[in-house]
Amino acid sequence: MFSTSLNLPHVMRNGDQSVTTVKVGDALFGGEKVVLISGPCAVESPEQIELCARLVKEAGGSVLRGGIFKPRTSPYSFQGLGFEALKMLRNAADRVGLAIVTEVMNAEHVEKLEPVVDMIQIGSRNMQNFDLLKTVGKSSKPVMLKRGMSATLEELLNAAEYIMSNGNQNIVICERGIRTFDDFSRNTFDLAIIPMLKGLVRVPVIADPSHATGNRDLVIPVSKAAIAAGADGVMVEMHPDPEKALSDGAQSLYPEQLVTLSDGIEKIATAVERKF
Ligand code: PEP
Ligand code: MN
Repeated sequence: MFSTSLNLPHVMRNGDQSVTTVKVGDALFGGEKVVLISGPCAVESPEQIELCARLVKEAGGSVLRGGIFKPRTSPYSFQGLGFEALKMLRNAADRVGLAIVTEVMNAEHVEKLEPVVDMIQIGSRNMQNFDLLKTVGKSSKPVMLKRGMSATLEELLNAAEYIMSNGNQNIVICERGIRTFDDFSRNTFDLAIIPMLKGLVRVPVIADPSHATGNRDLVIPVSKAAIAAGADGVMVEMHPDPEKALSDGAQSLYPEQLVTLSDGIEKIATAVERKF
């Protein structure tokens, strides 16, 4: 176990407990195998998400992502198709045998998402929405907790503690980059927090190099670095036609890049005595 001067929340402490695993469909986060989550930033149409589902499955992914409500900086940007998109996401995943994860934006929506999704995503902007954290803490579904874009490690762990202390132990933490002064990337991917988290807490940790970098050319190398550093999986955005994507096209992989990524993950996983 790593040492830290941080005042770690109680339930989060690693101690001598073995690593907790979190099952989402066929995927087991925190087990021997690293997990690939992929899909578009947003669900845009039945055709788009069905094609994505097939491509993710073929590339060895086990969870399909796709936003139905999008937290956009501008109110004039595409906001997501809402609950109609949830059905599209579920149907597309069921056709090929994938689990689904989607972001919940407010506590009222949790009960509508809960029966349909396999995993609930808490987005970066909501990492300290404590009402929402308490609500998903009472949910029976696993939660992917994304790091707030300006959150410290202690704040991130306390957000996880909100969920756990309300009864839900099935949490996967996701590093998605922090506010940056760089002029080449959307955020700065905090590689070191991966081994830090893995050394401190008994919670699976994944990386989102898409939102961390904002640039599809950086997604493959950063994903590989995350796996090398001990991440239990990666979540990457992919779009069949990124130039026409309604959100985050620049960071969305082309389908063939997802296959390249998948090969890369397998090689790195082997090097760090994991499997894919
Ligand atoms: C997302 O994954 O769809 C997303 C909006 O990411 P973040 O909350 O990390 O910005
Ligand atoms: Mn996105």
